Amino acid sequence: MEYENRFRQAQRPKYDCLLFDLDDTLYPLSCGIAKACGQNIKEYMVEKLGIERRKIDELSNLLYKNYGTTMAGLRAIGYDFDYDEYHSYVHGRLPYENLKPDTVLRNLLLSLPYRKLIFTNADKVHAVKALNRLGLEDCFEGIICFETLNPIHKSNVSDDDDDENDIDFIGGSRRSINQTENNNNGGGSSSKIFDIIAHFAQMNPSSNLPKTPIICKPSENAIQLALKIANLDPQRTLFFEDSVRNIQAGKRVGLDTVLVGTSQRAKGADYSLESIHNLREALPELWELADVKSEVAAYVGVETSVTA
Ligand SMILES: [Mg+2]
Repeated sequence: MEYENRFRQAQRPKYDCLLFDLDDTLYPLSCGIAKACGQNIKEYMVEKLGIERRKIDELSNLLYKNYGTTMAGLRAIGYDFDYDEYHSYVHGRLPYENLKPDTVLRNLLLSLPYRKLIFTNADKVHAVKALNRLGLEDCFEGIICFETLNPIHKSNVSDDDDDENDIDFIGGSRRSINQTENNNNGGGSSSKIFDIIAHFAQMNPSSNLPKTPIICKPSENAIQLALKIANLDPQRTLFFEDSVRNIQAGKRVGLDTVLVGTSQRAKGADYSLESIHNLREALPELWELADVKSEVAAYVGVETSVTA
């Protein structure tokens, strides 16, 4: 038994879980989804929030840069709107037909005997639709998405101890409990909008920006909350992302990181892949140690059945 324990310790796979961003990570940027999404967000700002078109480019850039997503920024500076309406507007008309079944990726994922989870800032409808189009819907244990981190009936999900072992993140259905909380404003703009363009036009803008109620990457809080909900040890989780700032945030909370979409290594990235299809070449150890894991499991299984 001593030998067995030493063997098991020495050969223990480095990771328990592979955590994947979805958009532009599991399919290439060249699919055009991100571009269309950006365009739809700008249209939403003009059509639904009544923001002047000439301000849209600068405003959306500032919000994205300072708040992680434009949506989080819009809420921070004072716009109120229905989250579902926003998501269906920006995702509803995306060119999903550009996403094709990816059997290469599907086989790679299915051959990896680790927990595998999606972690996206997008809503569940988009995540499920994109995964279905890619033919990857059954490759993951669950989806940590917008609704998972922002359940609408709670002001702060991290206060809820019941979430610790809650597998509801797979569906994220908790959010529908009190949607009306956020419907009061009907998508209009409040009279007290913080002028973030004027703020940054100052000679020495302070770093005091209004806070957003939305939890999303790249905030460390969002990543830590996702880890908590899925019961993941950051030291034993490998995080795949196309966004450098999300990679860097992941690194700060202790994750090992794989930047996807470029072969150029960036600060905070332990590995870089031009495409997720290069996974086996770049990280063969994921399979090698996984094989050992299976062998150890088989050995321990035999030993147990003999002594029982
Ligand atoms: Mg992405």
